[in-house]
Order: sequence, then C-alpha cells, then structure tokens
Amino acid sequence: MVSKPSEREEEYFARIEFERRKKLEEEKHRKLKEEDKKRLKELHYMKCPKCGMELIEIDYKGIKVDKCSECEGVWLDPGELEAISRFEKTNLDKLFSVFKK
Ligand SMILES: [Zn+2]
Repeated sequence: MVSKPSEREEEYFARIEFERRKKLEEEKHRKLKEEDKKRLKELHYMKCPKCGMELIEIDYKGIKVDKCSECEGVWLDPGELEAISRFEKTNLDKLFSVFKK
C-alpha cells in the first residue's frame, strides 16, 4: 500500500500522542490502591465507557462484540479489532447485519 508522506506523518503524531498520554495514565494507575482498582472495576464492568449504560455481548465467530444498549457504541476486547480486520467482506457484512434494526 502506497501512502502519501502526510498520512505517514499523521500516524506518527497520533502514536506519539497516544504514548505520551498512556505514560501519564500509567503513572496515575501506579498510585491507585488495589482496593480502589477493584472498586472501579466492579463499578464499570460491562458498562458503556461513554454513557454508563449496560453493554450487550454478542458472540460472532469467536469475537465478543459488546454493544451499548443506549448509545449504540461498540466495544472490542484486546486483539478483536485486529481479528475483525482480517474478516472477509461477507463476514463483516454479516456481523454488521446482527446489529441492524
Ligand atoms: Zn453507551
């Protein structure tokens, strides 16, 4: 795949920005007590990160897609975005059709 230099630059700056913010967050995590981490996990588990409502989990070809029952946002576990990106177009269409109204 050929990309313009400006596109490569965008990827570079996005990665630098992500790594900068991740370091800041990791510093905060180190300062959190174990009991606070546990409490936060219990509070947020299977809740939408945007609106706080319940997520509904759908298993499609071994990929667990969590979709918000309120705002329709979609949540993927680690590695699942990569797995979906390897799907054939027809399987991708089938996955989307699960959520169609
Ligand atoms: Zn939501």
